[in-house]
Amino acid sequence: MDANDSSRTSWTAEDVGKLQHDLRNPLTAIMGFSQLLQATALNTQQAECVDKVLDGARRLLDMIDAIPDRTTEEAVFTDILYIEDDPTNIRLIEGILAHRPNARLRSAVNAANGLEAARKSIPDLVLLDLGLPDRPGIEVLQELRSDSRTAAVPVVVLSGDSSPSTIAELTAAGARAYLTKPLDIVEFLEIVDDVDS
Ligand code: CA
Repeated sequence: MDANDSSRTSWTAEDVGKLQHDLRNPLTAIMGFSQLLQATALNTQQAECVDKVLDGARRLLDMIDAIPDRTTEEAVFTDILYIEDDPTNIRLIEGILAHRPNARLRSAVNAANGLEAARKSIPDLVLLDLGLPDRPGIEVLQELRSDSRTAAVPVVVLSGDSSPSTIAELTAAGARAYLTKPLDIVEFLEIVDDVDS
């Protein structure tokens, strides 16, 4: 759209939907990083400041969410399976996805449960931790790739391990993306939005 086009007086539903989406991403990042800060040891004054940032961001997000969005009237859900044993990480992803009304998150706390859940109901996207209690995450990726039912499901690795050799290994094994912690929330949401549901 041409910003200098003064004759433009009305917005289409598509314009509004795109604006909502573009405004939500950086706000969700502000909220996610504020929540990460809350989880660290802050002094009282710092904690109050973070609370205020978070409170302001929430109110702004509520206002954005309140804009009628006709583009999502026919809801199509994105089914996301997160295989991760750390409840803090699951809560963080839940928090990030809370403002993606079309995302449905389910989680599995180990490799065996994750593979079973993925086969029982094929997800649109798998988020995968590498350090699982029963088996290495890379084996989960390999099993998903080699099973015809789940071979096409994109798998995104979320890991604290940022060593180039691990990233290369997982990418070669078929990971769609490899995101290191602390998570780049905007990048994460772009990947979620790119998934066809
Ligand atoms: Ca883990």
